[in-house]
Amino acid sequence: MLSMRDVSTSYGQIKAIRDISIDVPEGKIVGLIGANGAGKTTTMKTIAGLLKPEKGTITFEGKRVDGWKPYRLVQAGLALVPEGRAILGQMTVLENLEMGAYQRKDPAGVKQDLEKMMTWFPILRERIDQLGGTMSGGQQQMLAIARALMSRPKLLLLDEPSMGLAPIVVSEIFRTIKEINREGTTILIVEQNVKQVLKIADYGYVLEAGRIVYEGDGKSLLNDEKVTEAYLGGKKHA
Ligand code: ATP
Repeated sequence: MLSMRDVSTSYGQIKAIRDISIDVPEGKIVGLIGANGAGKTTTMKTIAGLLKPEKGTITFEGKRVDGWKPYRLVQAGLALVPEGRAILGQMTVLENLEMGAYQRKDPAGVKQDLEKMMTWFPILRERIDQLGGTMSGGQQQMLAIARALMSRPKLLLLDEPSMGLAPIVVSEIFRTIKEINREGTTILIVEQNVKQVLKIADYGYVLEAGRIVYEGDGKSLLNDEKVTEAYLGGKKHA
């Protein structure tokens, strides 16, 4: 569904990612892991059209999309849940959700999807008129995911959904991500929470200093000594 080939992106003189090649097949969950500053967010922003790659190609459903503006990528079926969630704090939960659907022209479908989001995340129904900024971190993450889903994406890009959340909330969010995937949305997820993500990912890539250093299916990375030593604090990770 998505493929990046030899993509590099820089901030001025700083080369943040170099020659990145990744594939996200339709229907799968692909994880991108790595330490702080490895280039995960840069990769996501490059895919979502927020940063322009200086080299390489990105194709989405067979079309070359590098250089496209973010709104056009959303129309094409790609939605980003950014790092830090970017909830509109002074808008209600409902308004935040409606923002996610702002480019759609099928009010009946939007209404149906609102209902679906409130079924997936019951807390959003309870808090529908509450200001986004007054929700807890976990609730804001759920809202951010639901808002992205309101554009009916084929591919959902999740940038560190577990950031700053309590373990119990993280487990709930990962369960929901799995369910969203089961219902047909392809997912690319960036995480520092390596163990959780490799458990749900079909395939994973490890980024180090802007380059892919390992890749493999989720389970084999989880059992790979090099990966566990670098990211899971040694061999004992069960
Ligand atoms: P984190 O988990 O901390 O978000 P990350 O893996 O997402 O890390 P990036 O945010 O993509 O990493 O950063 C990759 C590199 O690019 C780092 O060296 C970082 O310092 C640098 N960088 C990121 N944003 C900018 C920016 N706006 N200007 C200059 N350099 C940047």
